[in-house]
Amino acid sequence: MYRVAIVGRPNVGKSTLFNRLARSRRALVGNEPGMTRDRIFHRIRLDDREFELVDTGGIVPDEREAIPEKVLEQAELAVGEANLVLLVVDARAGLTPLDGEVAAFLQSRGADFWIVANKVDVDAIEADAYAFSALGGRPVFPVSAEHNLGVGDLLDRILDRVPEGVLPAADDEIRVAIIGRPNVGKSSLLNRLIGEERVIVTDVPGTTRDAVDTFLAHQGRNYRIVDTAGIRRKGKTDRMAEKLSVVMARKHMAMADVVLLVLDAAEGATKLDATIGGYAWEEGRPVVIVVNKWDMVEKDTHTMVQRERDYRGRMRFLDYAPMIFVSALTGQRVFKLLELAAAARDGSRVRVPTAELNAFLQGEVATAMLRRHSGRKFPLKYACQVSSSPPTFVLFLRGGEKLHFSTERFLSNRLRERWRFFASPLRILQKPAIRAPRKKRR
Ligand code: GDP
Repeated sequence: MYRVAIVGRPNVGKSTLFNRLARSRRALVGNEPGMTRDRIFHRIRLDDREFELVDTGGIVPDEREAIPEKVLEQAELAVGEANLVLLVVDARAGLTPLDGEVAAFLQSRGADFWIVANKVDVDAIEADAYAFSALGGRPVFPVSAEHNLGVGDLLDRILDRVPEGVLPAADDEIRVAIIGRPNVGKSSLLNRLIGEERVIVTDVPGTTRDAVDTFLAHQGRNYRIVDTAGIRRKGKTDRMAEKLSVVMARKHMAMADVVLLVLDAAEGATKLDATIGGYAWEEGRPVVIVVNKWDMVEKDTHTMVQRERDYRGRMRFLDYAPMIFVSALTGQRVFKLLELAAAARDGSRVRVPTAELNAFLQGEVATAMLRRHSGRKFPLKYACQVSSSPPTFVLFLRGGEKLHFSTERFLSNRLRERWRFFASPLRILQKPAIRAPRKKRR
């Protein structure tokens, strides 16, 4: 993966630039255990090019204090990790000795580095910006991260450097799609997860070709929230926004391992929620139902159970999906979402050895079926799991029998309990067992 790192002395606007490039306001907040605090990677994808933006911001603890060793330590890390280094300087403040020191260090290490002269809000300063070419980095980009000037050009130039081709997802990466109708709180949840306070909607209609994924680590696992720009995209009218939400949901699901279907507790499970949920079911993706805005609900000890029963009644086909009640506003249980997503991804990948599967079905399950169907034998000859994500089983049944819908459901529940296919829909295919031709006697 092509990596770009941002370095520079404190207060030059590194994080503002970082967030402009990553399209988010602030990088990760790391008071959750297990989060990597010192290094944050944002994966940015445009068409068929993808790179990682490395934020080494955590290294310099106090932005107000210029600690030269810390700034150099950050530069050292950047050189070690990145293919390209952006040295950010403050065009209003002019060249400082520390800028010179960092530039000299980068040069001594043979790093490929560009100068980004930030805070160029007026033309007068732009002319001064070029004075920074004395630092040796080429080219010099005058930008204003705060006002979003020149950042697009910079991004284009970076992309020119990035080799073509989106790399396949790392195997340990859990790709998560946050889907739901407008205003249920998808962006708020995302912002909570990545630690932002505010959302910036910079998407101009017509620029739908770009997708920005956000990459985060939690308790030792890596997550990729797919197309976070798409999550924020809004339609101009309510009708348009609703239609767009369905289109985006389908697009996002296709890219994800796990789907977080977000509902609004203040409004309950609506028809549109069920429609979107239906697509998740069709796609065979593991689903976690996220009931957001739980802070808005007046609660007693039974509320959660009652709500869960109500929502499930409106989306019976998602009976396999765990449900969690959260608040993006207060942050209640929000990080639990990631843990559920990880468990859901793991569950969708379980592979059951054929011998174990048959022993279980012919033993415990067959006995339970006898009891359920007053003495009728389970006509199973043989079973095997033919694929995962979603876990799919083929049952070969004697005499071409077909299992009743309720029996199939019973069976899938037993399989789910036994092998922890947590949150995944199971597919069960029934086929007639072909009788082996009798061997001829000699
Ligand atoms: P999206 O369209 O699904 O991305 O929804 P937004 O994230 O834009 O949220 C829609 C509105 O709901 C905003 O006004 C949020 O401030 C509000 N909101 C989101 N999450 C919560 C929550 O957990 N509690 C409360 N009370 N409001 C929320």
